[in-house]
Amino acid sequence: MIQRWQHILDALPSQAKLIAVSKYTTDENVQTLAEAGQVDFGESKPQNLRDRANKFPDLHWHMIGPLQKNKAKYVGKFAAMWHSCCDIEAAEAVAKHVKNKPLRTLVQVNISGESQKQGVLPQDLPLFLQQLSHIKQLHSIGLMGMAAKDGDTRASFKLLHQCRDDILRSYPSALELCMGMSNDWRIAVEEGATMIRVGSEIFGQTKG
Ligand SMILES: *Cc1c(COP(=O)(O)O)cnc(C)c1O
Repeated sequence: MIQRWQHILDALPSQAKLIAVSKYTTDENVQTLAEAGQVDFGESKPQNLRDRANKFPDLHWHMIGPLQKNKAKYVGKFAAMWHSCCDIEAAEAVAKHVKNKPLRTLVQVNISGESQKQGVLPQDLPLFLQQLSHIKQLHSIGLMGMAAKDGDTRASFKLLHQCRDDILRSYPSALELCMGMSNDWRIAVEEGATMIRVGSEIFGQTKG
């Protein structure tokens, strides 16, 4: 595991940060990776994020999965960053539970062209960001996206990059471009990713 992790870090340019997606792995593996120096971890279920944040309070826990409003409190209370914001009601629900400094938030954009996928459509992004800007407990720092499984991965990532460039004039702090997973992070990095989310390539395929 450590070797695979190190291998990714070695290949990553300095502007890009690795989020280790721990949703399928054990606490022991999280501990091992933390001891090796990994600080940023991702979870896709709010309850799991809460549990892990309680067990490992010194690590930074990134919420990367879909969110139902009734679980919003776990994100507001325990997340270091929220990657999957794409619904204003959920955003308001999360914001209610944010204490102290605003929660760093990425807007998830649907770049796959698949209608059943999560995310704000690129053409709806300006309005969504404007609505989000009224929620003071959330601080928009960029965009997140997932490529289609069988689509043109590079084109999806280029689209997210373009969306980011388009909004920068109005939102100069929205610099982050979070894209790329185990099977496509190398392409994402080539297309300008500033964060990648990698699970199975580090921890193996085991599903928990
Ligand atoms: C699970 C997950 C990942 C990591 O996927 P791998 O293919 O295991 O690297 C990345 N992003 C999101 C949103 C996920 O749910």
